[in-house]
Amino acid sequence: LFVCFEGGEGAGKSTQSRLLAEWLEQQGLTVLLTFEPGDTGVGKELRRIVLDPATGELSARTEALIYAADKAEHVDHVVLPALARGEVVITDRYVDSALAYQGAGRTLEVSEVEQVNRWATGDLRPHVTVVLDLEPQAGLGRFTERDRIEGQSLEFHQRVRQGFLRLAGADPDHYLVLDARQPVDAIAAAIRARVAPLLEQ
Ligand code: C5P
Repeated sequence: LFVCFEGGEGAGKSTQSRLLAEWLEQQGLTVLLTFEPGDTGVGKELRRIVLDPATGELSARTEALIYAADKAEHVDHVVLPALARGEVVITDRYVDSALAYQGAGRTLEVSEVEQVNRWATGDLRPHVTVVLDLEPQAGLGRFTERDRIEGQSLEFHQRVRQGFLRLAGADPDHYLVLDARQPVDAIAAAIRARVAPLLEQ
């Protein structure tokens, strides 16, 4: 089982992915909880380059390729081996972040970003993608220090949010979209309800 968490900044992805992992472990499953970008050796370096405000401007294609390289490393060395061991894999961000941030946000052609990412991941797709939806003002307000991407304009983050919602709207069976302003417990319960039937398959 492969589950992704997606959404903008400060929506609670890491909290909810951790809560889901804990619940699945209580069900007796072995869970690998991971994230992008940066959960591999090379990925850490790529994350530093792409998020350090000191990096300055990057061409949108360079940025997309750095994230895609992180993803290839992540899929080959972390996600696929865990799935092969029969573990549940939960990732905090995956391909949809690229489509939303580099596609909708940076205004690259979404279909082109998708092609690059399908190639980078060997077209490995999650069974379900949870989108925690939050208006950018609310999410960004949770941080005092901003990384290179968080420091982009509000309009950028609004395009990212719409990017996620468009992806979910185009394939509703595959997505669970939740209002991130709900209480943490209510969100966690809705996610468990969506994931539970997948455990029986
Ligand atoms: O989720 P986390 O805060 O660790 O994400 C790291 C940063 O990378 C965020 O600022 C996010 O906006 C950015 N990001 C991005 N494009 C991606 C994935 C993440 O701009 N494809």
